[in-house]
Amino acid sequence: MTVATSKKRSKVLFAASEVYPFAKSGGLADVAAALPKALSETFDISVIMPFYRSIDAVRYNIVPLNIFYTLNMNGKAYEVKLYGCSYRGITYYFVYAPVLSEREYLYGPADQGYADNAVRFALFCRVIVKLLKEDGDFSILHLNDWQTALAALLVKEDESIETKTVYTIHNLAYQGIFPYHTLREIGLSEHYYHMDALEFYGSINLMKAGIAYADRITTVSREYAKEIQTETFGFGLEGFLFYHRNKLSGILNGIDTEVFSPQSDPFIIYHYDSEKYAKKFENKKAYLKERGLKGQQKPLFIFIGRFTWQKGVDILIDVLERTAQLDINIAILGEGETLYHQKLLRIVSRYRHIDLYFGYEEELSHQMYAAGDFLLMPSLFEPCGLNQMIAMHYGTLPVVHSVGGLKESVQPLEAFTEKSRKGFGICFGEAHADALYKALKDASYLYGTLRYKEICRHNMQCDFSWKRSAERYAALYRELDKA
Ligand code: ADP
Repeated sequence: MTVATSKKRSKVLFAASEVYPFAKSGGLADVAAALPKALSETFDISVIMPFYRSIDAVRYNIVPLNIFYTLNMNGKAYEVKLYGCSYRGITYYFVYAPVLSEREYLYGPADQGYADNAVRFALFCRVIVKLLKEDGDFSILHLNDWQTALAALLVKEDESIETKTVYTIHNLAYQGIFPYHTLREIGLSEHYYHMDALEFYGSINLMKAGIAYADRITTVSREYAKEIQTETFGFGLEGFLFYHRNKLSGILNGIDTEVFSPQSDPFIIYHYDSEKYAKKFENKKAYLKERGLKGQQKPLFIFIGRFTWQKGVDILIDVLERTAQLDINIAILGEGETLYHQKLLRIVSRYRHIDLYFGYEEELSHQMYAAGDFLLMPSLFEPCGLNQMIAMHYGTLPVVHSVGGLKESVQPLEAFTEKSRKGFGICFGEAHADALYKALKDASYLYGTLRYKEICRHNMQCDFSWKRSAERYAALYRELDKA
C-alpha cells in the first residue's frame, strides 16, 4: 500500500503600500500584484496593504475579518481593523486605521508627502508584525520600499518571531527621511539612533531599517544593484549599501502578461500579436482620431509616466520644441510636479503635433502602448522600469537612456540578432537633450522600414513575464527558509 503525502507549501506574507488594482501610483503596485501571483503556485502567499479610502470595497468584495488590534506608539493607542478578500487566487489583508486610511491621496499631494507619513506607515508595519506573530506560521515576510522597511527591525527585535525577512528596494530616491523627533513618535528608543541603524545626517531614515535588519535585500535589476553602491545613484546610502552588499542582489521585474496583453487587452479595440502585427496600425488610427492628432504615416512617440525629474522630464521638455522640425507626433500622459505641468502646457499650446493628457489613466495608457510606434524613456535613473517592457510586448519600440533596468532590459539596436531572446530598442548613453534628439531622429529614419517591423515583431515574441524572475525570488525564499 502506498500513502500519498502532500508537502505543505511555505507561507509567505508580502507587504506593500500599493497593489494593483486596489491602489496604484506607479510600478510598485504592478509588481506587488504580479509577483505574488507568479509565486502562488509554489508558496502559500498572502498580501497585506493599507485600506485606503479610495479602494472600492464593493467591487472587490472586501469584507471585515473580525480581527481588531490596539497598537501603541509613543503613549498613543491606535485602533486597527483588518479586512480581507480573495482576488485572482490570492488572499489580501487590508489594514484600516483612520490615520492611515482616511486620506485623499496614498502618500500626499504630488509635490509633498503628508507630514505624519512616518506614523502612518510605522503603524502599518506594526500591524504586519502583529499579524505575523498571531499567525505564527509565516516562514517569509517580503517587504517593499521605505513604507514597510520598519517591519524588518520590528521582526529582529522580537526574539519570539522566527520569520525571515526579504526587503526589496524599488526606488532609492524615496527613503522615508523624517526629523529626529519622529523616532519617538513611531515608538522607537534612542537605541536606534546611530549610523548602523536609522540615523541619517541628523534625521531618521526608515529605508535604513530595511537595509540593516532584513535577512536579504533585493532591488529590481542587477544594474541598479550595482549603481546604488555608487555616489551618483546612491542618494547618500551608497556606503551603507556597500557595507551590506553581501546580502544584496538584483532581480529584474517582469510584467503581468494577463493585464498587459495585445491579444486580449480589454482596453484596446483591435487585438493583435506578432503574426498579426499590421493590426496594431488600426489602434494607432483610432487613437489619433480620438486625440485629434493628424498624420497616420508619421511615427507616433509616446511618453507615459510620473512628471518628476527622475523620468527625464527636463530633457523631454528641452527637446519638445525642436521636434517641430521632425515629421512626427508625440503623445504624453502623466501627472506630477506643478512646474512640469506648467512648462508642458506652455509648449503644447503652441504645437499641434504634441498631445498632452494630465492624469492617471490606466485605460488610456493601454491604448497608447497599442497605438504608439516608439516609447520615450529618457529617465535619469531607472531602477527597473516597466513601461519599456510593456511597450516591447505591444510591439512599440523603446527609445531609452541606457541606465539601470533600462540598460538590462533593452539591448541596443546595433546588436540585433533574430536569435537573441532579449528585447531591442534605440539606446542613448547620456542623459542629455541632444542625445534624446538624435535618438528621435534615428527613430524617425528607422520607422516604417523592414528592419523596424522585424525588431518590433521580435520584441513581441520575447518573454517579459514574471516567470524567470519569480523563480529567482522562489530560490531566495527557499534558501532563507532552510537557513
Ligand atoms: P515608476 O517609477 O512610476 O514606478 P515604472 O516604469 O516602474 O515607473 O512603472 C510605471 C507603471 O505605471 C507602468 O505600468 C505605467 O504604464 C504606469 N503609469 C505611469 N504613469 C501613468 C499614468 N499617468 N497613467 C496611467 N498609467 C501610468
